[in-house]
Amino acid sequence: MIAIVGGGISGLSAAWYLTQASHACTLIESKPRLGGVIDTASWEGCVIEGGPDSFLGIKPEAAQLGKELGLDGELISSNDDRRVTYIWKNGRLIALPDGMMMMVPTKTWPVVTTPLLGWGTKIRMGLEYFRRPGGERPERSVAEFIEEHYGKETVDYLAEPLLSGVYGGNPRALSVNAVLPRFVEMERKYGSLTRGALEARKRMPPSGALFRTFRRGLGSLVEALEQRLAGGMMVVHAVAEAIERTGEGWRVHAGGEWVEASHVVLAIPAYAAASLLRPLDGELGRLLDTVEYSSSMTVALAYRPGRLPIEPDGFGFLVPGKERRKLRALTHVQNKFPFRAPEGYAVIRCFLGGAGKEAVLEESDEAILRGVMRDLREMIGLDAGPDYQRIVRWPRAMAQYTLGHAYRVKKIEGRVKGLRGVFLAGNAYGGIGVPDCIRTGRLAAEAIVRGGQEATR
Ligand SMILES: Cc1cc2nc3c(=O)[nH]c(=O)nc-3n(C[C@H](O)[C@H](O)[C@H](O)COP(=O)(O)OP(=O)(O)OC[C@H]3O[C@@H](n4cnc5c(N)ncnc54)[C@H](O)[C@@H]3O)c2cc1C
Repeated sequence: MIAIVGGGISGLSAAWYLTQASHACTLIESKPRLGGVIDTASWEGCVIEGGPDSFLGIKPEAAQLGKELGLDGELISSNDDRRVTYIWKNGRLIALPDGMMMMVPTKTWPVVTTPLLGWGTKIRMGLEYFRRPGGERPERSVAEFIEEHYGKETVDYLAEPLLSGVYGGNPRALSVNAVLPRFVEMERKYGSLTRGALEARKRMPPSGALFRTFRRGLGSLVEALEQRLAGGMMVVHAVAEAIERTGEGWRVHAGGEWVEASHVVLAIPAYAAASLLRPLDGELGRLLDTVEYSSSMTVALAYRPGRLPIEPDGFGFLVPGKERRKLRALTHVQNKFPFRAPEGYAVIRCFLGGAGKEAVLEESDEAILRGVMRDLREMIGLDAGPDYQRIVRWPRAMAQYTLGHAYRVKKIEGRVKGLRGVFLAGNAYGGIGVPDCIRTGRLAAEAIVRGGQEATR
């Protein structure tokens, strides 16, 4: 029997790959529902995602898991032909220049003509092409790294809004080695990121969709896992409060009972794993506690046909922190994916919070909605209240890969190995996205099946 603590996608994936290898599992989840931050609702046929809405098409794990669960027919791709993302700057929305590989330009004309960047930055971007490799460099923050290549304006109006959409993070704190390792490699090899990106483009196979998801939302992945796991997995809805060694293995205390297990997978945030493991290894608890988290929230606003007085343009927009708005990002859901809303309906998904802006989670729903509607009125002229709204708060849900992340994870892995039979999974270690979390769950399962101890990445 394997005990898995945490019923988010990481824990569910571990359970799936373990039961596929004929291991019985008990899943311990503190909330009354499974899925963790994957939280799909529906309203009048609209898909309303409270947490993640999709996964990167280039990362195979989520689509692969979907296929294994019989959801291949449900997989859908983003409408990349409508893909325009805007950035809010000085009172207006400006389209991201064509050809950007995140914050790295690969086409000259769109950068020359964009009003998003000043002439100083544009000239700097052009000169960056001539940088030469400078050998191994010490770890830097994303902000230091991008500023060195393209200047501060690129940090403020490209790196910060793009990364806050993924990590809810602060580029001055995030480690470039952990968050953008491909760019670090390009710098090492070419000196210039622009040259590195152009070379990478040449070698890239014709790319598929940027984002993928399931027709009825990511919740269908959780639903399918729950159904298919029902035979081989027991679920205990209680907080795991303690872990102890027994003669042959381990036991986990949850809901007033002890769950006996040969192995334990902790698929919970690092700070939650820290409180369970501290009594077994104080240093491991301390290391896990140093993984920082940011808090964020989503506000979905849905409109019946004829009720939205504006024309939703592109996938949506990002708001740099420098612009001091409540809103951090907005998605026009029915533009980004097909099958998201019946004909004529419109769904707007807003992101709030993130590093340094967490206080918004403490506000009442009324205050949040008032603030969001004020921003929408001032930014895109939307003054009609929604027919449906859903506010979902995610306190301390996004791990932050801050400076020293790789070193920290290596130390954590080393100490967990010493416990023999305890495994970690989740977004604190080797990637924050849904596919990364599925991979951590699968790796923990594979290590248990093999009888080894390496997992996590
Ligand atoms: C708002 C938001 C939007 C996102 N958007 C995207 C996106 O579009 N694409 C993408 O790829 N990724 C996205 N992410 C990231 C991704 O969704 C998460 O990293 C991933 O789903 C985390 O899964 P997990 O299972 O590791 O953790 P969680 O989903 O946090 O699950 C952990 C579970 O453990 C339980 N738990 C904690 N402590 C205990 C305990 N002591 N006992 C029992 N149970 C416990 C919790 O209740 C929870 O259910 C987003 C994240 C957020 C918050």
